Amino acid sequence: MTGTAALELRDIVAGYGRIEVLHGVSLAVPVGSVFALLGPNGAGKSTTLQICSGKIRPSRGCVHIAGAHVNGAAPEALAKAGVCRIPEGRGIFPNLTVAENLRMWTYATDLSLREVQEKAYARFPRLGERRTQLAGTMSGGEQQMLAMSRALVADPGVLLLDEISMGLAPLIVAELYEVVRALAAEGISILLVEQFARTALAVADYAAVMTQGRIAMVGQPADVADFVSEAYLGGAA
Ligand code: ATP
Repeated sequence: MTGTAALELRDIVAGYGRIEVLHGVSLAVPVGSVFALLGPNGAGKSTTLQICSGKIRPSRGCVHIAGAHVNGAAPEALAKAGVCRIPEGRGIFPNLTVAENLRMWTYATDLSLREVQEKAYARFPRLGERRTQLAGTMSGGEQQMLAMSRALVADPGVLLLDEISMGLAPLIVAELYEVVRALAAEGISILLVEQFARTALAVADYAAVMTQGRIAMVGQPADVADFVSEAYLGGAA
């Protein structure tokens, strides 16, 4: 890796109350790249994302965004610095229509509602077709598209994606990952968390496996795929 990473964690120790969950996590996401953080339930992946978005403060270690040390910065300050986290569970308003949800995103940007809609509907035509539908009545994949529209609008430097494939059919997952790839091509640096999604490894530039609050392996996606099938599938896959 050359130059300053878009996002870097150095030796992060963190947890909830007195329970330590991350025991010295380091990783670096180069500018404009996709970094996939994989691992089983409870490994600490979501906690790592919450460290990156400022939701949880580390008890040790450093968080750097574009080279600036940001430990202790509030989520709002990090959002201003260009960090956007799309939470697990979609983070949308189920009782508002698609168009009304998009209106909510405009409060966080200088874009007009029209510009926001144009961006979202251009990337996800299905949202345009369903603009008057209540978000909560859409399919899981459509809801995830709506959630990801926030990233199009926020134009973030760093995008944090938490299990975007959860519970979704492979075709929809492939469609969402095409968008991930396109966002990275526009220069957005992406840290994404999944359990063991092959699709994630297919679009990632770098990948790591986390187990029990530690990075067990980091490297090229192909090497990580081998490691994952060895470690978790007994080499069967
Ligand atoms: P999953 O894939 O299941 O979402 P994960 O790798 O994202 O798992 P985390 O959600 O980061 O893992 O959880 C790591 C550990 O921290 C787990 O043991 C979990 O029970 C614990 N934990 C997570 N959130 C809290 C919380 N708010 N309070 C206390 N413990 C928590």
